[in-house]
Amino acid sequence: MKKINLILLFFILTTLGFSQQILLKNLRFNGNPPQMVIDVEGNIKPKYNINYDEQNRYLFVEFLNTKASSELKNKTINGSYVKSVKIRKYSNSTGVFIFFKNNINYSASYWSNPTRFVLNFDKNKAKKEYTIVVDAGHGGKDPGATGFNKYHEKDIALRITRYLKTSLEKDFNVIMTRNNDSFISLSNRPKTGNKAKADFFVSVHLNANSSSQGSGADVFYFSRTESDYAKKVAIFENSVGSKFGENVDDITLIMGQLFYNKNKEISAKIAQDLINSYSKRLKMRNRGAHGANFAVLRGFDGPGILVEAGFITNSSDISKLKQSRYQKLAAEEIAKAIKRHFY
Ligand SMILES: [Zn+2]
Repeated sequence: MKKINLILLFFILTTLGFSQQILLKNLRFNGNPPQMVIDVEGNIKPKYNINYDEQNRYLFVEFLNTKASSELKNKTINGSYVKSVKIRKYSNSTGVFIFFKNNINYSASYWSNPTRFVLNFDKNKAKKEYTIVVDAGHGGKDPGATGFNKYHEKDIALRITRYLKTSLEKDFNVIMTRNNDSFISLSNRPKTGNKAKADFFVSVHLNANSSSQGSGADVFYFSRTESDYAKKVAIFENSVGSKFGENVDDITLIMGQLFYNKNKEISAKIAQDLINSYSKRLKMRNRGAHGANFAVLRGFDGPGILVEAGFITNSSDISKLKQSRYQKLAAEEIAKAIKRHFY
């Protein structure tokens, strides 16, 4: 009886805890496709639990009944995906924490010959929810305002919107009304957005003044009522229509009263938020946010703003806005203000 008990005990202990732990030999990364590989000794594929923490962007894999070789130690990886890897040894298992720079999608499986655990990962391609229309003012035969050193409004506006497209594309679908030096009528600009059922419209311009003293940035939103100053700016921007044979009065307000109120509220909020951060970041005079009757905003079926990025007739403003560094800064601030509203 004693002998049988001892044999039984031996079998129970072997199956429970004293069975040989499988050795995780080595941990490595491949770049293309991005993957993490753990080489396992022998032919047995140890069971594992896997859990992804989206909030803190790390993946935890626990390999049961394994031990880690000294080669499998904490490593820091300066790849484009992985920030660091930490190994934790538990009594009967090994934990591997992989910290990612951005959220990822992953898949894990064992491969044979030699036995290895392969973790494939890729950038999380979340579906973009919102569409933004980016509109560079003027273009083609319409140069817009011409200012200091003969800079044209249409050229600088286009350069800012190209950077704006890049900045926004990380979080939004982006439609540009023009991406080259072409003429687009005022009525066709909002139409492009309406057709795509876009969520927001942003038009980029540069202000002008007969005196070189006027300086700074403004952000406008559509409003039926307007101040004298806002009216003056809107008259200039709307005059493109009549100058090139278009009757801007034909661009009617297609939103109903409720939508008008709601869109005005959203647009004014974004305009105010943007002008504050924009003027600070570009160290430009803050001329404020104003409601005005801009034809290009009136025709869009949703909230929108028109940014006067600075004065093309002012040497200080244009010395900044002619540089790609400042064009990029301007674009970043516009993109950030839009993002702050939508996310
Ligand atoms: Zn303009």
